Amino acid sequence: MEGMDAPQKPDVALNPESPIPSVEILGLPVHRVTMVQTLDILDRFVKSGRPHFVITADASGAVQAQTDADFRALFDRADLITPDSSGILWASKRYGKPLTERVSGVDIVDHICRASATGSYRVFFLGAAPGVADAAAESMRQKYPGCQIVGTHDGFFKPEDDLRVAQEIAAVTPDFLFVAMGIPRQEKFILATQSIIRAGVAMGVGGTFDVFSGNVKRAPVPMQKMRMEWLWRLAQNPKKIDKVKLLPEFVRLVLKATK
Ligand code: UDP
Repeated sequence: MEGMDAPQKPDVALNPESPIPSVEILGLPVHRVTMVQTLDILDRFVKSGRPHFVITADASGAVQAQTDADFRALFDRADLITPDSSGILWASKRYGKPLTERVSGVDIVDHICRASATGSYRVFFLGAAPGVADAAAESMRQKYPGCQIVGTHDGFFKPEDDLRVAQEIAAVTPDFLFVAMGIPRQEKFILATQSIIRAGVAMGVGGTFDVFSGNVKRAPVPMQKMRMEWLWRLAQNPKKIDKVKLLPEFVRLVLKATK
């Protein structure tokens, strides 16, 4: 992946004293934030000294939340919900409250690693198959020399080992905990261990480490711009068909809600 430039200020600054503005899509709140605003908010979360939970919302998750009450409840626990997918951007237009840009998990992790090379952020990569988080960390260190990835751990352990893994992570006091174990396992881990790990920001990031480690390639930029990244992902991993199948349902539900 290309090196990411720091997003350019100025952007409309959000008042830290006010609630973050949001749009409701199929009953789910999604915050109206740009990448610059998101990075500012995350920095504030870290400096607060309290743990925060971040979700990146996409279309398949929005459909899943319609019928899965446990999954829906996660959104009520989140301190920040960013618009991860082009489907969410499209829906926000239908609701008459257009969101500005995608703020995806993979891009957030990249920006935080870049910022960590020149600042003080401590980052932990948890998840994916054995060796993948390590390879992802190594590729970030090459891209952003000096970035402080203070630990990695694979994502194939049983829920009964959550506490042990959480203690291991807590020992290296990360500011950012990125968890790539798939939805909803990653979010359940974060909430179950938040009070032990106390990372300023904990966020589920799905297949991000597979991308960083080179196991999975990101769609070429023109394809991302054409909003066809989902098709690229499907071609790379046909198991994603279950998620892709939810997209027409997302469109149907949004059209019904906004007609
Ligand atoms: N994974 C994991 N533990 C598990 C199941 C999955 O660490 O018990 C990892 C898997 O190797 C992959 C990531 O979780 O790296 C999930 O990626 P996916 O693209 O499926 O994420 P999502 O579609 O949930 O964004």
